[in-house]
Amino acid sequence: MTMATSPLGSTSLFADLDVDVELDAPLAQRTWYGVGGPADALVRPRTAEALATLLRRCHRNGVRVRVLGSGANLLVADEGVEGVVILLDAECFVALQLNAEGPVTAARVGGGRDLGKTIRETTGAGLSGLEPLIGIPASIGGALRMNAGGKFGAIGDVVRAVGVVGLDGEERTYGAADLNFGYRHSDLPPGIVTWAVLALHAADPVALRARCKEVSAYKASVQPLAAHSAGCMYRNPVDPATNQRVSAGLLIDRAGLKGTRVGGAFVSEQHGNFICVDPGARAADVAELAATVADETFRRTGIRLEREVVFWSRGGE
Ligand SMILES: Cc1cc2nc3c(=O)[nH]c(=O)nc-3n(C[C@H](O)[C@H](O)[C@H](O)COP(=O)(O)OP(=O)(O)OC[C@H]3O[C@@H](n4cnc5c(N)ncnc54)[C@H](O)[C@@H]3O)c2cc1C
Repeated sequence: MTMATSPLGSTSLFADLDVDVELDAPLAQRTWYGVGGPADALVRPRTAEALATLLRRCHRNGVRVRVLGSGANLLVADEGVEGVVILLDAECFVALQLNAEGPVTAARVGGGRDLGKTIRETTGAGLSGLEPLIGIPASIGGALRMNAGGKFGAIGDVVRAVGVVGLDGEERTYGAADLNFGYRHSDLPPGIVTWAVLALHAADPVALRARCKEVSAYKASVQPLAAHSAGCMYRNPVDPATNQRVSAGLLIDRAGLKGTRVGGAFVSEQHGNFICVDPGARAADVAELAATVADETFRRTGIRLEREVVFWSRGGE
């Protein structure tokens, strides 16, 4: 551990807690972009109690806390981020439980669990509900925060309840109605999603397999899934002229911006709303290109784009 180089090195924040701590921890390889600097501390609680105590201590000491999921909707600044970044990879945060008796109607899923793995396991067991999300890289918590989804549906469609540990360390439970899921939006309060109960139901295995193939093929046909990106950079905006949502990718394409480049970052030729990176790119390249795309799209179409990808920086988001 590089205690001397981190502002958190001298604190007793983690003393006697059941957590793994890495100071000055590189985050780049934990994000889909693969760029960006370190966190002052990356903390992996081993129990729910340790998480709650850690959050309480950070709250009391004014230490900034962020939570990292699969890093699929995230750009970390080149200089990294201050404070504590929490990763939920202990068994208690990644468990999957189907109801114990009778026909399965729900799954309780840990907030840190990989969405793709959960989809494979539930559909493999003949359970329908999550297959509309095939191909979306996410943790359960990250997917809920953004209400991840697409043409076939969104995760909010199957939510029954969500457990959130607030930044004060208190756990609260929210029903779907409290969370107001909408297009790439949820009213989840600040804090950490540690579990969710999702509605599932038994489906005809042949029809379910066919549906999985359909979703998977569609996703691969429209998005550059193999490239380093964070998915769509911008939400689909509402066109003030029609009051309807329009595809941000289409607007970017119409503005002639596909292929535009800043350093190692470029606008995908396959999907205008994907900003991808080459090896060696910097987070600053992505941020500058994203700003250029938004400005130019507004100049040429009159429609403002609102960012979907979360940007982390020291003292920032
Ligand atoms: C190739 C590719 C394709 C994509 N396609 C789609 C798509 O079709 N539809 C779509 O909606 N998105 C898509 N995305 C974006 C991304 O998959 C989603 O936004 C996903 O929900 C991000 O989840 P994550 O766990 O990776 O979150 P992260 O990127 O790790 O974090 C994103 C935000 O969620 C917060 N967060 C993470 N975990 C938790 C938690 N446990 N509790 C509270 N907050 C948390 C973080 O603090 C951060 O603010 C795509 C991304 C890529 C790279």
